[in-house]
Amino acid sequence: MLVVQLRYNFRVYPTPGQQIELARAFGCARVVFNDGLRLRQSARENGLPYVSDAELSRRVITEAKKTEVRAWLGEVSSVVLQQALADLNTAYRNFFASVSGMRKGRKVAPPRFRSRKDNRQAIRFTKNSRFRVLDDGRLRLPKIGDLSVRWSRTLPSDPSSVAIIRDAAGRYFASFVVQATDEALPPVECEVGIDLGLTHFAVLSDGTKVAAPRFLRRAARKLRKLQKSLSRKAKGSNNRKKAVVNLARAHARVADTRRDWQHKLSTIIVRDNQAIYVEDLCVAGLGRTRLAKSVHDAGWASFTGMLEYKAARYRRVFGRVDRFFPSTRMCSDCGRINDKMALNVRAWDCPCGSHHDRDINAAINVLAAGQADNGNDRGAQVRPASVPAPRCEAVTHPDAPRSARSVEGISAL
Ligand SMILES: [Zn+2]
Repeated sequence: MLVVQLRYNFRVYPTPGQQIELARAFGCARVVFNDGLRLRQSARENGLPYVSDAELSRRVITEAKKTEVRAWLGEVSSVVLQQALADLNTAYRNFFASVSGMRKGRKVAPPRFRSRKDNRQAIRFTKNSRFRVLDDGRLRLPKIGDLSVRWSRTLPSDPSSVAIIRDAAGRYFASFVVQATDEALPPVECEVGIDLGLTHFAVLSDGTKVAAPRFLRRAARKLRKLQKSLSRKAKGSNNRKKAVVNLARAHARVADTRRDWQHKLSTIIVRDNQAIYVEDLCVAGLGRTRLAKSVHDAGWASFTGMLEYKAARYRRVFGRVDRFFPSTRMCSDCGRINDKMALNVRAWDCPCGSHHDRDINAAINVLAAGQADNGNDRGAQVRPASVPAPRCEAVTHPDAPRSARSVEGISAL
């Protein structure tokens, strides 16, 4: 049995008094994080050994509380402070692993200082902080109080931790991490390859083309307008401040809607297919080219992440196919690798006589390559231990603009 970590996010509504307490906790967590970072940096500059996790905790929490300048750290839950240091330690470990080449993917930067101006403020409570969901549905947090939560679904089991987040739009969320066992779905015959394209959000090897929904394209246009209107406002003016909040709100709404749509699409694909293969896009690399805008708008990384953990959860096979594999120009009938094609070539003919739709052909190739990689070793692609909870799992903000249309572009499903 697999254990997967799922994240459930809910909107919370702290009272003005609780907002003050939360601001204090965000501030203390930030100070501890920054103190820890400063201590390690200065040790390094002075040629001293790396300060261990335990030593760091002793100095920037336990000892610091006894000093006059940091006495106020005692006003917040010590778990919040420890978790802030845990974040710092993780950031360091990721950085070291990246530098030494043990961590794949794009390079991880060294930890940076946190600022009160950061768009996202967060604190985390673990089990031993004794946070708890009360019978009346409120969330009890030590030294904060009982927060009212808009529950949009029930938690499948006892949460192991909860993070409280304040986003750029000034909204508060509780993000619970829940351990769940996988829920194997009945096996099905179909397997699918997915080509993530620029003309369509995704093209499946069965010929289905999924367009980015119109409501998202409209929202993107509206965002650009707000962005423009912001750039026309004088720096430091009240109108500019208002425009900044408006833009942050609009961004948050679009992100919620996109996530909602991607959840529906990924659930359908995982439900209907025994194996799912996608091209391993180096989204970080692509993002720096002129394709950046469409790539980020499309949000493929979060989508393939959803496919991956849902596949693990429902006991499906998920695989990423090498991104250097020429999926577009290889004929899926004869295997011949043809000349490079311009982006505007949507269909082509292979000398073998096959006529191909560019994207469907690519998706079929992705499926074939995925199946070949996987060989007979079914399930090899499913990670045996745990699939980390993606940061944005299972968000169902009750106030997110909900689309009545299900998944646009795949009406057949
Ligand atoms: Zn051919």
